[in-house]
Amino acid sequence: MQKITSQSEDFSRWYIDVIQRADLMDYAPVRGCIVFKPDGYELWEACQRELDRRFKETGHRNAYFPLFIPESFFQKEKEHVEGFNPELPWVTEAGGEKLEERLAIRPTSETIIGHMFAEWIQSYRDLPLKINQWANVVRWEKRTLPFLRTSEFLWQEGHTAHTTSAEAEEETLMILDLYTDFVENILAIPVYRGQKTPSEKFAGAVNTYSIEAMMKDGKALQAGTSHYMGQNFARAFDMKYLDKDNTLKYVYTTSWGVSTRMLGAIIMVHGDDKGLALPPKVAPTQVIIVPIGPQKELERVVTYANKLRDRLAQTGVRVKIDAREDISPGWKFNEYELRGVPVRLEIGPRDLQNEQVVLVRRDTGEKLFVPESELLNRVPGLLQDIQSNMYSKAKDFRDSNSHVARHLTEMAEIIRDRRGFVLAGWCGEDSCEKSVKQETGATSRNIPFDPPEVLPACIVCGKPAKHTVWFAKSY
Ligand code: AMP
Ligand code: ZN
Repeated sequence: MQKITSQSEDFSRWYIDVIQRADLMDYAPVRGCIVFKPDGYELWEACQRELDRRFKETGHRNAYFPLFIPESFFQKEKEHVEGFNPELPWVTEAGGEKLEERLAIRPTSETIIGHMFAEWIQSYRDLPLKINQWANVVRWEKRTLPFLRTSEFLWQEGHTAHTTSAEAEEETLMILDLYTDFVENILAIPVYRGQKTPSEKFAGAVNTYSIEAMMKDGKALQAGTSHYMGQNFARAFDMKYLDKDNTLKYVYTTSWGVSTRMLGAIIMVHGDDKGLALPPKVAPTQVIIVPIGPQKELERVVTYANKLRDRLAQTGVRVKIDAREDISPGWKFNEYELRGVPVRLEIGPRDLQNEQVVLVRRDTGEKLFVPESELLNRVPGLLQDIQSNMYSKAKDFRDSNSHVARHLTEMAEIIRDRRGFVLAGWCGEDSCEKSVKQETGATSRNIPFDPPEVLPACIVCGKPAKHTVWFAKSY
């Protein structure tokens, strides 16, 4: 079997090797599109389960809107159409006839949902309206990379309408908190939370907030976004309600999304030269049992291992057994390390005799000999330990690769010779933001809510800084 390229040798090659060898995806015949194979799709389902529960707990309901959006809808919000036009695929013909109006394949659904909301919202009693959609969207991207940036991707998009700007802004930030909770506590990925600069915000939004994560090569990945639209889409789509004072008013809207990009983040944050490493809370299989032993004793071991599996499963652990006889234990060990299963449980004839099992942690490689009588009590705690250890390791890496710069040359040096994020002051001018990109290759990631340090002067022009900004090269 072909070896995985090491991360230090070529990180991009490593990434492609891992996702293919771990059987998460395959390339599709259409440019920039991928197939989510069962192991990859299961990981997405685990993300969906966690997010969906949180959306419902905060009062959102799922609905589904059409894939096709009439061209005229895009013309209604000027910034939105300018931002998305270059990436839209069009359906011009169907059923053997040319269509009267071209249909876009949705890149995002503000327009069609705005159109429907306008009909559904009549009075203040209909508000707030809080809808989420699980869907596929298409953006004809120039540069693509499996999971991180594909032409078609899967995501959820939330869309809400409110009576006041304060309530809509509160929703926008509540969702950013919800995403932070999911990404940090479930995916074990630390994030910087903040506001996008005007040049990086969503086309048509008043404000865009993001969470930004650092991959193991030091590059940034925008892991989720939440947009406050003000009344931009309300005016464009005539979303009005009759208020208590009997006057018609425009609503305030929000939208927010995370995508299958999240899978790429899990891989690039936790993976190592052995392959994937999945945080227990999102791992489709948390414990893999590998029975070991000479042929004549194997049956007894497997029977016993099956019992252990059933008992572990009853306590809510996601556990599987690999009892294939024609494959060696050593091969299986490598295989499940490659696939990132958090815990391996080995059991052989001697363990049977000693009434113990061997647990091996994927995150540290540590071997634990556990009396069988303690197994059911130990496993949940061990999974929790692995989860927190993976988060701490990711956070240490992120923190030790986050720098501060006061001069552009200093930032250029850090970006070129080291890696990671650079915190810098910014006067608020587009031209200074552009200079940073030209001189260093880094773009603004966000204006953090709680910067580790507040910088007084713009890194480019030296004038007083309006904001302290995270800059980084990004995916
Ligand atoms: P946006 O609607 O642009 O705010 O994006 C919503 C979410 O989808 C963000 O988390 C983006 O990082 C992610 N995303 C945007 N474009 C792509 C893409 N081509 N492939 C995968 N994820 C994407
Ligand atoms: Zn400046």
